[in-house]
Amino acid sequence: MKTAILGAGVSGLSLARFLVEGGVPLGELHLFEAAAEVGGLCRSKTVDGFTYDRAGGHILYSKDAAARDWMISCAGGPDAFVETARQTRIRFGDCWVHYPFENGLCDLPAEVNKECIEGYISAYEARSESGSEAPSDFDAWVRWRFGDGIHAHFMRPYNEKIWKRSLSELGSSWVAGRVPEAPLEDVVKASQGVRTEGYVHQSIFHYPETGGFQAITDGIATAVISQVRLNTPVTQLTRHGEGWRVDGEDFDLVISTLPMDELPRIIEGIPAEVAAAMRELSYNSLSSILLAIDSDEQPDFSWVYMPHEEQGPANRVTYISNYSPGNAPAGGSGLQCEVNWRGDGQAPGEELTGEVIAGLERAGLLTKDQVLFSDRSDEGHAYIVYTHGFEERRRRSIDWLESVGVLPLGRFGRYDYHNSDQCVIAARELAAALLERRSAGGQET
Ligand SMILES: Cc1cc2nc3c(=O)[nH]c(=O)nc-3n(C[C@H](O)[C@H](O)[C@H](O)COP(=O)(O)OP(=O)(O)OC[C@H]3O[C@@H](n4cnc5c(N)ncnc54)[C@H](O)[C@@H]3O)c2cc1C
Repeated sequence: MKTAILGAGVSGLSLARFLVEGGVPLGELHLFEAAAEVGGLCRSKTVDGFTYDRAGGHILYSKDAAARDWMISCAGGPDAFVETARQTRIRFGDCWVHYPFENGLCDLPAEVNKECIEGYISAYEARSESGSEAPSDFDAWVRWRFGDGIHAHFMRPYNEKIWKRSLSELGSSWVAGRVPEAPLEDVVKASQGVRTEGYVHQSIFHYPETGGFQAITDGIATAVISQVRLNTPVTQLTRHGEGWRVDGEDFDLVISTLPMDELPRIIEGIPAEVAAAMRELSYNSLSSILLAIDSDEQPDFSWVYMPHEEQGPANRVTYISNYSPGNAPAGGSGLQCEVNWRGDGQAPGEELTGEVIAGLERAGLLTKDQVLFSDRSDEGHAYIVYTHGFEERRRRSIDWLESVGVLPLGRFGRYDYHNSDQCVIAARELAAALLERRSAGGQET
């Protein structure tokens, strides 16, 4: 069965590899990739010995140990990875606040701590008394869940930096299950100076020793790289009998990891209401800025959240050379800064890097003269934006694609808020279903 896999990020590569591991002849698979290299959002970049991840600092962790171990084994095994205990902070004025914020209240200035804990307790009591359901609006959800103090001091400013719009334009369905609720006693204790340890699950993560996070997708790709057509953007899919024609070439089966919002430009015959639903799926874009630092003396943080405007445009700063010493030459270190912008907007201009450095200097993370050089990578599709009505638009888009036999897969392929391990899990599940279909249809694998 001649199969086209559109996109060679971690989703497309993993699917191809699982199919081959399941016995599908390699020659039946054809991966189309627009970029000059594989890896998509998992790609990394090395400049003068400093390595960073192009779509924000990436770490490997998973609730599914088999998926994580598979990724590690594809990329050289455990010895090729550094294992680190996650250390994250929020920069708040000149305080380092433990993460999550409600577990670090005692790190805040006293009056802010008081405001936050009072708000948290009021919200807790209001929820318990009224038995109210979680509001569907994200701004209301934050107040309902965390109270007005945490809303004002952290959640609103931080989330506005991430989402680049008023929080009331967003729904709350995406946070369900993602933000575990801390017991009230724990938050009260945290406010008094006793933090709950082991609060953050997935506290240990892995990162490749060399090559950045991309070493993982490079490793997965080795088994299928001969079938990847690089620099080959897919521009047209037309129906052809039971299958599809991809830019003039016939295939029995098509799996798409391309951003679903772009498919109306590519796939012929999408009904108008489905095309509208696809186009209205929103996303945010990202600039990742590497700052090469002339010193290896850094705090042992993994990353730091930067919620406030005076800290500059970056929302997160990753201490990328703490992930692996291989990410910086001896005597140096790398800071990787993330700045989001609206997918329907303009990329920030060249002044961005200067603004980021100035913000970090004001926040006390560096001094300008420590920066040896900078490098910037932009990614168009980085964050799914959960505007109201998102679930309905997504469901309608996926249902139509599946009904015509174009199988959507991946972070923007299905608009699933997936990390790379979850992309691998989804690819493993799809491969298993396809392999079963093959054997039921009497095809040899
Ligand atoms: C800021 C940020 C931080 C993250 N942190 C982590 C983390 O710490 N850990 C983690 O595991 N995950 C993390 N992720 C998520 C992870 O990057 C993604 O889940 C994963 O890379 C998505 O893989 P994918 O293959 O589904 O999509 P993509 O990587 O987007 O792959 C799609 C591929 O399709 C190609 N393509 C697009 N259009 C066309 C076309 N017309 N024709 C042909 N090819 C095309 C693209 O070039 C790309 O290679 C993070 C993501 C972001 C944005």
